[in-house]
Amino acid sequence: MPTLAAVSDTNDSSGRSNFDDTTGSPTSGGSTSGEGLIAQPIAEVSEEQLRSFLDDLSVPTLLVTCVHLAADDATRRNILDGPLRPAGSYLNEYQGFMSDEDQVAARQLALEIIADWRDRGAPTPEPISPELLKELMEWIVGMPVGDEYVPMMTEELALDGRDDRAEEPTPGAQDLPVVVIGCGMSGLLAAIRLGQAGHPYVVLEKNDGPGGTWWENRYPGARVDVGSHFYCYSFEPSDHWSEFFARQPELQAYFERVMDNHGVRPHVRFGVEATDADWDEERGVWVVSTSSGEIVEGRALISAVGMLNRPFVPEVEGDFDGPAFHTARWRDDVDLTDRDVVMIGAGATGFQVAPAIAEQVRSLTVLQRSAQWMFPNLGYHDAVGDGVRWAIANLPYYGRWFRFLIFFPGCDTGLDAAIVDPDYVDAEGGQRLAVSEINEMARGFFADWIIGQVDGDPDLVAKVVPDYPPTGKRTLQDNGSWLRTLTRGNVELVRAGVERLEPDGVVDSDGVKHRADVVVWATGFCANDLISPLRIRGRGGVDLHDAWARRPRALLGITVPEFPNFFMLYGPGTNLASGGSIIFSSECQVRYVMGCLRLLAEQHGTSIEPTTAAYEDWFDRCQERVRQTVWASPHIAHSYYKADDGEVYVLNPWRLVDYWTWTREPNATDYVVSAATGRGAST
Ligand code: NAP
Repeated sequence: MPTLAAVSDTNDSSGRSNFDDTTGSPTSGGSTSGEGLIAQPIAEVSEEQLRSFLDDLSVPTLLVTCVHLAADDATRRNILDGPLRPAGSYLNEYQGFMSDEDQVAARQLALEIIADWRDRGAPTPEPISPELLKELMEWIVGMPVGDEYVPMMTEELALDGRDDRAEEPTPGAQDLPVVVIGCGMSGLLAAIRLGQAGHPYVVLEKNDGPGGTWWENRYPGARVDVGSHFYCYSFEPSDHWSEFFARQPELQAYFERVMDNHGVRPHVRFGVEATDADWDEERGVWVVSTSSGEIVEGRALISAVGMLNRPFVPEVEGDFDGPAFHTARWRDDVDLTDRDVVMIGAGATGFQVAPAIAEQVRSLTVLQRSAQWMFPNLGYHDAVGDGVRWAIANLPYYGRWFRFLIFFPGCDTGLDAAIVDPDYVDAEGGQRLAVSEINEMARGFFADWIIGQVDGDPDLVAKVVPDYPPTGKRTLQDNGSWLRTLTRGNVELVRAGVERLEPDGVVDSDGVKHRADVVVWATGFCANDLISPLRIRGRGGVDLHDAWARRPRALLGITVPEFPNFFMLYGPGTNLASGGSIIFSSECQVRYVMGCLRLLAEQHGTSIEPTTAAYEDWFDRCQERVRQTVWASPHIAHSYYKADDGEVYVLNPWRLVDYWTWTREPNATDYVVSAATGRGAST
């Protein structure tokens, strides 16, 4: 097999650089155990300690774990057929709505089973049958789990300790070097899988460390809103999280640690921004130019630049004399103590910033152009107790089932409330309030909770209850901290946009001036300018943005015709608006990309790209589908889900189970693999 001269030489004076050829991934295949945690092994745990550990745990998860640990079938059936069982499930409801008495009784039952398992020498549980596995899935969430979900969830659970998404060494991978742009969550994942398959690769990262969005968004209060035990790689231990919804520093440290665990660091060029990537047809390589003047080449190119990456600051007239900065460029050197702060924007970011700074500032004025829908997540700021960390590390499968408990109740159920029922008519006679019966139910539930948080204050109620259908924009979740913050004496919520800046303040869209020492832009990101400002030119030098003509699209959000060997992660049509986790989505995409690279290697091809028919058909189906969702509602005036033309290109309108199925491997008929045609750089 040919290799590329440009990547097999060492750095030369021309500025071209080589790949680091160390493809090894020391923990290839990953680990789903609790390894690495210093926790007390079960043999050393007294009854009293055990009791206190169990007090921390999710009871449904604990009981399902006990089914694995039980000595015999009678004990298993006693759990599964007994009266102590979850009454149902809801996103982030860890106790299955069980009564306090039932929880106490269930913990006692679990204590006996675990003590018995301990006294039997803590044997590795026997594998369970597929029938029992499905029964456990349905039992823990108290609802049916459709047959089509079982394979996906079985893979997620990984009770056999195997990482089914791991790559095996691919014959020919060594001759297929890959350039990855971005070392955020998805770029790092791609690097791990490329290493497992045996591809030489280099990762170009504009920042000085990994983590992408979690590197950049260091604003006060930044934390994830998908449960941390699910918002993490499926193949890595999750026994270390200190909070159920980790804050930015912990997430940042996580990505750093995973990078090192998998030997990725030597492959990453930090502080190097890719500016241009050109497909060299003659040689069958991508030529990537960087901000440092370096040229890096690879036979394949993976863009992992993220979607919510380039800060958006609206263009407004006037100048402000004091510090003004975007939340993703937080200025730690600006002390907010006793200052008047005006924050513009109150989406997922702004609603986290306000509670975190409200106590410190003299005044906080929040300009909120539209109110946001939110629902309760009472444990949003909760710490993970020692018992949970201990259980994940020491009770076989506790951590895996806890992951399932976070994932399944939010998996595809949110999509139902997002689909427009064309025959539905709301109380106003239209679809401004809601787009279907189930959407109306969501409205009632969300509105009741929001209104309940502001003590019925009519002025505030008028400002915080949205005037568009629920789930139409990114739905927030809170434990009440945002709404409580709005009731503080030094905080004012203004339901208006921004008109202009003045040297000492901000004038809102109603013409009212708000004095400020500091201005914070919490105005989001240029989500629809996907891949920008990177310029990617495929066959014939055609720029990707020109090819898109402001309608960004890609087959499964990943591949584009005429852009051979080019793959996007978190590309167009992959953002999730109805549950799940972007990490799960990226694991699907990376597996698919690796499948494409395998096709290329197996067929000894030069290039792989989707057929135009498959690409256009995918786009048409996505657009047809997305137009049937609340996200496209004409009653939503502003949303980063919508592009300037009012269409929605960034969201995935499909069920996760479908996306998982479609991305398991590329459909060979969707692709053209071209043979070599005089590759200039071959040796
Ligand atoms: P965003 O959702 O786009 O919100 C931007 C805010 O700025 C909105 O309040 C918006 O008002 C306002 N705004 C934008 N342009 C404006 C203008 N010209 N004048 C006045 N106001 C303007 O951005 P974000 O809050 O940074 O969140 C973006 C995404 O990042 C989220 O959806 C989520 O995916 C991710 N995120 C996640 C977390 C988490 O996991 N916890 C935290 C933060 C962010 P309108 O609503 O009227 O448009």
